Amino acid sequence: MSHSHNHKLPYDETFQCVQCGYCLPACPTYQTMEKETHSPRGRINLVKMAAEGHLTLDELKEPIDLCLGCRACETACPSGVEYGKILEGARDVLASYQERKTSKPMRFAQKVMFQNVFPDSKKLRLAADAIWMYQRTGLQRVAHKGKLTHILPENLWAFEEVLPKVSSPSERRKRPALFHPPTGMAPRFKVAFFKGCIMDAIFEKINRLSMELLALAGCEVIVIPSQTCCGALHAHAGRRDDTMTLAKQNIEAFEKLDVDFIVNNAGGCGAQLVEYHHLFHGDEEWEDRAKALVAKTRDITQVLGQCELPLNKPIPAVVTYQRSCHMTNVQKVTKEPVDLIRQIPGVTFREMANPNMCCGSAGIYNVIHYEESMEVLDVKMGAVKDTQASVIVTTNPGCLLQMKLGVQREGKANEMRAVHLVELLAEACGLADS
Ligand code: SF4
Ligand code: SF4
Repeated sequence: MSHSHNHKLPYDETFQCVQCGYCLPACPTYQTMEKETHSPRGRINLVKMAAEGHLTLDELKEPIDLCLGCRACETACPSGVEYGKILEGARDVLASYQERKTSKPMRFAQKVMFQNVFPDSKKLRLAADAIWMYQRTGLQRVAHKGKLTHILPENLWAFEEVLPKVSSPSERRKRPALFHPPTGMAPRFKVAFFKGCIMDAIFEKINRLSMELLALAGCEVIVIPSQTCCGALHAHAGRRDDTMTLAKQNIEAFEKLDVDFIVNNAGGCGAQLVEYHHLFHGDEEWEDRAKALVAKTRDITQVLGQCELPLNKPIPAVVTYQRSCHMTNVQKVTKEPVDLIRQIPGVTFREMANPNMCCGSAGIYNVIHYEESMEVLDVKMGAVKDTQASVIVTTNPGCLLQMKLGVQREGKANEMRAVHLVELLAEACGLADS
């Protein structure tokens, strides 16, 4: 029986919900699955019932697993229900309950991924080297021609096709640890750059452009090697202890620096960083130190918005913006990205309908719940097509891959492209090609 774990569920928090249902229209899974059990209200009710012992954890598992964790429900809720806390608490309990039922090899594989791969930049660098070799040596072409990638499950070959071109090993290894403003310009801000894990391996080009843009805008940019993964993927998988270990390493690394801001360019990482203090609630040693990191954390658009960028290369295009849930609902950074897009000469900005709805990426949700994720993506792509945009801008690597996949699924690769906002700004400043 699973009831021995049920008392650990976040029961008290569920009483904040008055079951009014205002959150239902905001919830993407309620929209696509049309079931109360896949709505915020339904999930909260199920957690309460499980905590009371009326439901087993096995019965709770699917509705919780199929939640995107986008937290759009929180912004729609008039009672201020802290759904994120309820979800994370339920995932923690489910993860430790599941661990006993998971086979030893699987447990070992998960441990290796979460404890040895994501936090280790050297291993991620090697993985990126392997992808670069695969992409640049012609292997990828051969694999595509012979449809060899189709032996992978559909969710993996779909993503393989939209993976960006990885920077070369020498480019990645030669990147400086310090970027200066242009000669003659006094530094406006001194910032530390939070490089992330997968972001710095697969999307290194966007990281490098971010550093160059910040420098061009007048910032001195420091990139320290002692930082590590933010822990967002660990937290979403219910691995609280691992998340805390990574958070402590980051807090220790960044508190040694005298900087104005700690800047990130990934909505999901930023959301994790700005909530570090929640992990250490009541902890005398770590709570205040976490709060100090939170106070300095900024999305790159918040810093660039306070500087001046030389946007002198017009981009004549209709542009729409896929808002990352974690930027919008957790970090609440909504205005700065749009202001920056609007400043680009030649751009016509067109907001899509229901702009705050999740695209279905949600960490690794699109890999492990591929079908459900594609249903959410199809709704999103309908809204994108209505804007007639030729450029979809995002501010999160997961959303970026998902939107690239969306473009491909719609057969629009010749008329539409998906880019990170940093790439578009870099293009408008002459730092990158279109
Ligand atoms: S979560 Fe908030 S909006 Fe949704 S039913 Fe409960 S109280 Fe109402
Ligand atoms: S987090 Fe997103 S998917 Fe999950 S219940 Fe809330 S709105 Fe629905």
